[in-house]
Amino acid sequence: MNLLEGKTALIFGLANNKSIAWGIAKAFHQNGATLGFSYGIPQLERRVMPLAGDLNVDFVEPCDVTKDEDIDDVFNKAEKRFGSIDILIHSVAFAKQDDLAGRFVNTSRDGFAMALDISAYSLVALAQRASGLMPAGGSMLTMTYYGSEKAIPHYNVMGVAKAALEASVRYLAMDLGPDGIRVNAISAGPIKTLAAAGIAGFRKMLRYTSERTPMRRNVDQDEIGNTALWLCSDLSSGITGEVVYVDAGYHILGMPEPPENWE
Ligand code: NAD
Repeated sequence: MNLLEGKTALIFGLANNKSIAWGIAKAFHQNGATLGFSYGIPQLERRVMPLAGDLNVDFVEPCDVTKDEDIDDVFNKAEKRFGSIDILIHSVAFAKQDDLAGRFVNTSRDGFAMALDISAYSLVALAQRASGLMPAGGSMLTMTYYGSEKAIPHYNVMGVAKAALEASVRYLAMDLGPDGIRVNAISAGPIKTLAAAGIAGFRKMLRYTSERTPMRRNVDQDEIGNTALWLCSDLSSGITGEVVYVDAGYHILGMPEPPENWE
């Protein structure tokens, strides 16, 4: 398949070969896209460079999404390198580890602001610049989680940030739709990644969902990548402002199957 032949995608949030962004990058590469990568902190360069090599990607730029000058720099370089782009992938989130354990009620003011800035506002900041490089329209996609809608133990402030992120998707979709730019989110089930490891009890979360989803398993990075491919290709040309679940059906459950050893 060459669903993205002739299209250029900028992917933010690649940390290593466990990243959801890597699942997306592979699916896009297999479908003919030209890719550019951006990573968050200098220490990740040594992990990201070999991955870029694997997919023949020669546009690899650092960008801390809390810094407008970093964001401007990446998009200026992208404009010089590609002229225009067709796809923006936002696969970025962060909250202090203290805020991803224990009780949400204890969230500090600065922890709240940081989580919302990096995990939600950054989509708006990237969309501002990316839309200027999409004269022929395009597709933007971000990653969210069910903790935006329902309270999930330890997800805490990240759930609040994801709620803001999903609302941002709808407002961006409304604003950018007239320019032919679609904006969507994938709500992924839990997957073992660097970011996920920061959530207290994550291994138990993985086990809990794998035993209870309608499909009795968890999802993986490649399944997110394939759905991202659909959402960023012309196959989904009528879809915008949407949150698409790739969670083996977990979110449809009103009550999970009670354990068999219950009376
Ligand atoms: P990951 O650790 O591989 O990716 C998170 C990325 O965010 C990293 O590349 C990190 O460098 C980047 N980042 C953090 N702070 C940044 C900053 N200030 N500037 C720029 N980049 C920054 O983990 P992942 O699980 O692949 O996460 C990708 C996205 O998927 C996140 O939005 C996450 O919330 C979401 N998500 C993950 C899961 C899961 O279970 N893994 C489930 C649903 C949604």
